[in-house]
Amino acid sequence: MSTERKWNFSPGPAVLPAEPLKKAQVALMDFNSTGIGILETSHRSKEFLGVMEQTKGRLKKLLNVPDTHEILFCQGGANLQFSMIPMNLMGEKKTADYVDTGTWSTRAIKAAELEGTANVKASSEDKKYTYLPNLNEVSWSEDAAYVHMTSNNTIYGTQYRTFPDTGEKPLICDMSSDILSHRFDVSKFGLIYAGAQKNMGPAGVTVVIIRKDLAEKSPATLPPMLRYKQYVEKDSAYNTPPTFAIYMVGLVLEWAEEKGGLEAIEKENEAKAKLLYSTMDEASDFFRGTVAKDDRSYMNVTMRLPSEDLEKKFLTEAAQKNLMGLKGHRSVGGIRVSMYNAMSLQGIEALVEFMKAFRKNA
Ligand SMILES: *Cc1c(COP(=O)(O)O)cnc(C)c1O
Repeated sequence: MSTERKWNFSPGPAVLPAEPLKKAQVALMDFNSTGIGILETSHRSKEFLGVMEQTKGRLKKLLNVPDTHEILFCQGGANLQFSMIPMNLMGEKKTADYVDTGTWSTRAIKAAELEGTANVKASSEDKKYTYLPNLNEVSWSEDAAYVHMTSNNTIYGTQYRTFPDTGEKPLICDMSSDILSHRFDVSKFGLIYAGAQKNMGPAGVTVVIIRKDLAEKSPATLPPMLRYKQYVEKDSAYNTPPTFAIYMVGLVLEWAEEKGGLEAIEKENEAKAKLLYSTMDEASDFFRGTVAKDDRSYMNVTMRLPSEDLEKKFLTEAAQKNLMGLKGHRSVGGIRVSMYNAMSLQGIEALVEFMKAFRKNA
């Protein structure tokens, strides 16, 4: 490589750990000493079927996925799930409950409204999505087929790390930007989905973990590529799956295992969040967090500086220190630090050191 790797705080596609990338580099030319590259390997080959099985197995083990649930690999990103979920699961009454915590959940609601009725039962729109509604107080609609929420709000920087008890109603969660970042109980969910490009691998594959009895409900009238049942029956290979993306996810999961699994990863993420948020709070007149403290995300940290000029200067000087991808989303502005699993504590230490120096000189 001609240049050293920089600290990449991009919201997604995001930084990947070095070890999987190095393994992939070799596999591009020659996968597992087959004399054929991974990109050139048939999805029906024994080698690739092995990759699928291993990747699924690793996910199952890391997330402790019970036998009641199936792991699927889809395409079309989390955005296609916004439509597939209502198409498959809204049932005869064509009604579901939604929580609106900004941008992605708003999109999920809009997509659901094309299929039926999406009741917004809780929302933080009144305060520009700077906090999380308490979901334990919500009474869900009687005729709702499921409850949909987003765990980590990538753009606003809020995160639910605990989940409501929705009783008999299947809880469905978009975990695109925090899956594998901490431990949680998969058995409590009807369906979990996540685009890989934040915490699991490259863009191109979406992991769906669905309760088997729910997948059975897919209407037979849906296009085959949009039916969960089809993915279950064909082991996510009705058509050619995104082989390379699945392979990369497998390598990232292997790396996660070697780190010590979710318990170790959760600890490191807590340490990273603690360091960054305490640095902000010690200078809260300068680094102004944009969301309610109790609802802060451990994955995407959002802040404003005293002026837009200072924010511009911050981004320019950060880049000179090899701290990249820190610009906030246009709907929030300011600075956003995305620190998924592959961002090490050292990366946050480098950032915090820069923040302190920047403030001193401002
Ligand atoms: C990035 C993101 C999405 C969009 O994912 P695509 O794979 O681009 O469709 C959806 N939800 C959340 C929470 C995200 O962070």
